[in-house]
Amino acid sequence: MLNLVFIGGGHSHAIALYLWGKKPISGVNVTLISDVKNTPYSGMLPGYLGGYYTYEQTHINLEKLAKFAKIKLIIDSVIDIDIKHKKVIGRWGNQVDFDLLSIDIGSTPKNREIQGANLYTIPAKPVHFLIEKWQEIIKKTQLNPSKKLTLNIIGGGAGGVELAINIYQKLNNILTPNKLKINLIHKREQILSNQNQWASYKLTEILKSKKINLYLNTVVKIVNEDSLITESGLKITGDYHFLVTQASTPLWLKNSSIATDQEGFILIKDTLQTLNYDFIFATGDIATMINYSRPKAGVFAVKQGKPLFENISNFLKNKPLKFYHPQKHYLNIIGIGNQSAVAIWGNIAWESPILWHFKQYLDQTFIKYFICLEKKV
Ligand SMILES: Cc1cc2nc3c(=O)[nH]c(=O)nc-3n(C[C@H](O)[C@H](O)[C@H](O)COP(=O)(O)OP(=O)(O)OC[C@H]3O[C@@H](n4cnc5c(N)ncnc54)[C@H](O)[C@@H]3O)c2cc1C
Repeated sequence: MLNLVFIGGGHSHAIALYLWGKKPISGVNVTLISDVKNTPYSGMLPGYLGGYYTYEQTHINLEKLAKFAKIKLIIDSVIDIDIKHKKVIGRWGNQVDFDLLSIDIGSTPKNREIQGANLYTIPAKPVHFLIEKWQEIIKKTQLNPSKKLTLNIIGGGAGGVELAINIYQKLNNILTPNKLKINLIHKREQILSNQNQWASYKLTEILKSKKINLYLNTVVKIVNEDSLITESGLKITGDYHFLVTQASTPLWLKNSSIATDQEGFILIKDTLQTLNYDFIFATGDIATMINYSRPKAGVFAVKQGKPLFENISNFLKNKPLKFYHPQKHYLNIIGIGNQSAVAIWGNIAWESPILWHFKQYLDQTFIKYFICLEKKV
């Protein structure tokens, strides 16, 4: 029996395992190692925080997926890969042998350059931690809705902007008027710096209309329990500080012998195999394609799911692998509250309630495969 091991229940793995369940290969022992039983679908995460969706509607239950795909699920957090002995090592004592490995563990916001960030911020990832803290904030706010609340969000990319808008939406419904203050702090001169000018302009106007304070060209250097200190010495007070900075990787991976870039992202070829080990595949945020420069976004992790499944199957059948070419432009739809959304595509940005319904349709089309799995077993 060959051992095929998947690390992380990210978007690509969820799809690949779903397809495996429909088209398994005999003589292969498949194991998924995940640090959580429920993995979030990134497209619907802001909507969950904003109160539009329930936890169940936005998470893929990996136990159900494992049952559907007839594979083994181990709940553990991987902390090392012993390439020489082909063993995956888990924090909670598991050691799993593999012949073929696939890694889709996502990323976490970078905090290395901000003093105190690991003590006093709420990182947007891992998502289960974000959700836990978010529930605590909601509970406290519900108990005392007339108490002033100030939230700082560090990072004005798509994730930070979407988080700010959805947090505003939810808390504004709980708090008495004028008690909520949200500060969005971004190091560049405009938010959504990786998107087109229109998107940045449109979303800036939307944030202003919600009275979310923008601090641009502002680099946070220190985080204290009740304040942030910027590079220029400015103090921004706050009760909670969310961290939505650029993606970063775990140190154990950078220290492994798998080829990574300077930042620790796994370098992969167009076949989704790692640069130096053909028996290791990697996808999603944790992987960087050597031939393509693309942002770390859920949409790419989703798109890599099918080619990953196909190439793993081909590898196992000794067939030639296919090349995956990621699309250049991708549709990014940001929910802006009040059942409306902004769509960003190439050089275009467009706001309309129709887009909110379209986003709902796209997201629900994706997640419904995983919600009704028990009916498909
Ligand atoms: C607030 C916010 C909003 C966003 N909104 C969007 C959006 O609307 N559209 C979009 O395209 N992108 C969005 N993104 C980006 C998106 O979340 C990521 O690009 C996407 O989740 C990457 O998918 P992935 O499969 O690489 O990893 P993930 O979805 O992060 O999945 C990785 C999985 O691996 C598990 N894992 C991690 N480490 C280990 C370990 N050591 N051992 C075992 N398991 C492990 C994790 O628990 C998780 O289940 C958003 C991000 C944030 C923070």
